[in-house]
Amino acid sequence: MSMRSLLWGAIRRRASYGLLIIFLFLGLTSFSSRQQPPQAAQDAPTPHSSVTRVYWNKAPLSWNAFAPLPLGSIKPRGWLRRQLQIQANGLSGHLDEFWPDLRDSGWIGGPGESWERGPYYLDGLIPLAYTLDDQRLIDKARKWVDWTIQHQRADGRIGAELGRGTYRTVRQESDTWWPNMIMLKVLTQYQEATGDPRVIPLMEKYFNYQMKLLDQAPLREWAEHRWADEILSIIWLYNRTGNAKLLDLARKLHAQAFDWKANFADFRNKEKTTKQNLTLHSHGVNNAMAIKTSAVWWQISGDASDRDAIHQLYSQLDRYHGQATGVHSCDEHLAGLDPTQGTELCTVVEAMFSLEQDVAILGDPALADRLERITFNALPATFKKDMWAHQYDQQVNQVMCSVLKRNWTDNGPDSNIFGLEPNFGCCTSNMHQGWPKFTSHLWMATREGGLAAVAYAPSQVSAKVANGVEITIVENTDYPFRNSIRFTVQSASAAKFPLVLRIPAWAEGATITIQGANRAGVKAGSFHTIDREWKSGDVVELIFPLQLKVARWFNDGIAINRGPLLFSLPIGEQWKKVKGEEPHADWEVLPTTPWNYALEGIPAPDQSVEERAIGDSPFSPQGAPLRLKVKGRRVPGWELVDGSAGPLPMNPVRTNEPEEDLTLIPYGCTNLRVTIFPQVAPETR
Ligand SMILES: [Zn+2]
Repeated sequence: MSMRSLLWGAIRRRASYGLLIIFLFLGLTSFSSRQQPPQAAQDAPTPHSSVTRVYWNKAPLSWNAFAPLPLGSIKPRGWLRRQLQIQANGLSGHLDEFWPDLRDSGWIGGPGESWERGPYYLDGLIPLAYTLDDQRLIDKARKWVDWTIQHQRADGRIGAELGRGTYRTVRQESDTWWPNMIMLKVLTQYQEATGDPRVIPLMEKYFNYQMKLLDQAPLREWAEHRWADEILSIIWLYNRTGNAKLLDLARKLHAQAFDWKANFADFRNKEKTTKQNLTLHSHGVNNAMAIKTSAVWWQISGDASDRDAIHQLYSQLDRYHGQATGVHSCDEHLAGLDPTQGTELCTVVEAMFSLEQDVAILGDPALADRLERITFNALPATFKKDMWAHQYDQQVNQVMCSVLKRNWTDNGPDSNIFGLEPNFGCCTSNMHQGWPKFTSHLWMATREGGLAAVAYAPSQVSAKVANGVEITIVENTDYPFRNSIRFTVQSASAAKFPLVLRIPAWAEGATITIQGANRAGVKAGSFHTIDREWKSGDVVELIFPLQLKVARWFNDGIAINRGPLLFSLPIGEQWKKVKGEEPHADWEVLPTTPWNYALEGIPAPDQSVEERAIGDSPFSPQGAPLRLKVKGRRVPGWELVDGSAGPLPMNPVRTNEPEEDLTLIPYGCTNLRVTIFPQVAPETR
């Protein structure tokens, strides 16, 4: 068997998922202010933040900058809550009811898929269910968690029987290391939300079992490249038990693992990957998962070069494969800078999760800037607005989504259509973690007994601060569509603690007022600490200068940004059903209006942007909350090539076409779009 066919077999797999449904609490009623919770909510496990403590890294681990709060501490409000409810009503709330890879999963004792798809689904279902306090989803999740706990073998092994499976049969122990890593992440989240006493003993027993087997069944393939995900669970358990043997296990895994730090120190994947040179370290999702690897390992190694390796990684990924959304191209391998290359949905959600971990460990605000950029642009853009369909690959310049062979490295012809399982079912199962984990990482604990807002969206956080005082902070905002964020403290008693607010690097001139008084020393690209005694009703207001900024990308093309949002020209669209049964059918999206425009000039930084209501579907062309008027001219000769926008003309371009008024909307609201534009050459005008 050739290396290529071996790799091909290895690369054709990944995850799956499915999910949820309905919600019991409609409208904007917040978790804490609901007067009469529905019966189901009253019955739900309740030990959320108020009784679950925060665990910091225990010696000899390096000190993490922030500690994630237990799942359930942060509740979505406003548009974020509505978005999670859309997700719960879409594929996430129903996938397990009809998708064979979940319905018949070996992870609930069935004869079907027994590798990563069940755990992937749970890794998003658990945070979605407990973030929304949705009893129907909690019941779904419990079925899987209970099966795993009740079916742990005497020797510590977990998961489906060996020899089962559909597209990927789990034949030996080493095949189980990777899917088990996902299930461990599932169980840690579940334990935080419920306090279930069965989880920690299961994990101790599992790690003992794995330690005994690793010499004869070492990490390989996916587990060898994704090992940092298991280190997260090992550290989670070590911080609760202090069992030093866990750190020995971590070192053993590290010794068998792929060295991502060395990979980026001597980076070889500088071109679009070809079918002849693809490897597991040119694989897009593996690279997204690697964004956390060195920071995660630094907690154990204490080696400053591990702590700092994130900068080397991004200098290479951005330089050779960076896209305006903040996430690298990969279709399915690293694919270069051209904005018509694809980016896989698994890569989007894994990059987000990596950055959430990186921010907690390293405390670098720039990493949270990037997290928001990916979350508010790349994540919503790649879903149908009802979240019943998704793409495998999205394109920054995406002018037609159709079944057609495109210039991908090795993805199939249906990779950019919106469907149930376009190209491959990994994204179908792995996509569910995006919005829920973003929500559960908006706020984190600080070492000094305070709270940090590391990313912004309408939410509320309940936690113990200072010496155990329970407080809630309500974050009222329509950010990123609006520029103000208002925090209100709710507390039974006064408490002195630091409130830490991230000031993004793009937010030069941001202001903070406390009870109406301006605060000095607010600096872009930093965490700003307000250490004072807080009383119930205290209000902090954060105002961002949302100016338009132009960035240059491939072929010197320009993209327009406003805060964390990218703007795109939406293209008229016709949705055409390809196959499948609604609501989870597959759709092509065909263009009905021209797209080949160059921009005339550059919008002034303070040019006004029309604000529209933030409705039920803010991430849709019709529901776009912002509109930006620009002028452009069509560029004859810039035409479709193989279903994608042809080569982006080098900026500037000459054109004698008439000037037209164009309206741009946020990238995340579009389905078909042009985002990277050439400019009209001055001599043309
Ligand atoms: Zn995928």
